[in-house]
Amino acid sequence: MAMQFLAGARVHLGEVDPSTGALAGNVGLHVGDDPALVRARREAMARRLGRDIVWMNQTHSTRVETIVHADRVPMLASAGTALARPAPGEWGPVEADGVVIDARGWRSAPALAVQTADCLPVVLSAARGEVVAAVHAGRRGLLGGILTAAVEQIRSLTDEAILALIGPAICGRCYEVPEHMVSESEAAMPGIRARTSWGTPSLDLPAAASTQLRELGVRVLTDPRCTLEDSDLFSYRADSGCGRQALIIIPV
Ligand SMILES: [Zn+2]
Repeated sequence: MAMQFLAGARVHLGEVDPSTGALAGNVGLHVGDDPALVRARREAMARRLGRDIVWMNQTHSTRVETIVHADRVPMLASAGTALARPAPGEWGPVEADGVVIDARGWRSAPALAVQTADCLPVVLSAARGEVVAAVHAGRRGLLGGILTAAVEQIRSLTDEAILALIGPAICGRCYEVPEHMVSESEAAMPGIRARTSWGTPSLDLPAAASTQLRELGVRVLTDPRCTLEDSDLFSYRADSGCGRQALIIIPV
């Protein structure tokens, strides 16, 4: 199990073993996999991490929700309602593409998961590791400002320094898109323009996200792996029927 620390919080990238089948390790419920198998994998992951996990229903939106607790039950701060608990070890899904949790005074608060297969997964932690976030930043969410929204929600809770880890995503040398999309994206987010290794227009989501986060005063670490090039990672561009890997952040 690959684990690293981001401030006081732990970060885990769910393992994937494509050699044991096209969807082995998949944690996505929306990719045509057997839901019972997906739930069993999610539960096993929660058991290994020693924490329940909050999942999102990601739709390429820019919505970020904050989770607080009432008597240790995770609550959606915006609605004041408890999260659903569809299976052991699992809360949600939260209807959002970003989720922040305020785990201060909440022992063994749940971890947060973001699912991807080429899109950019980003986890953030305030310095003490008690206020953390997981964000799904695909092209649309990134250009729409979801990272800024997540940083603002963390800052509304704490003035601690923030660290971010940009997880594996499709890289600028591989993420070919039509020129008109590059032009539109570059207008919204200067610096996102790139070229593929074969010389065609592309977007560099990890680099653009990193620049934006640094401009917001966030310290940034980047996992350099490319989902398309690394056969141990799910890539939608490599196989549109693929599963989803999870990047998980576990608050202190
Ligand atoms: Zn690549």
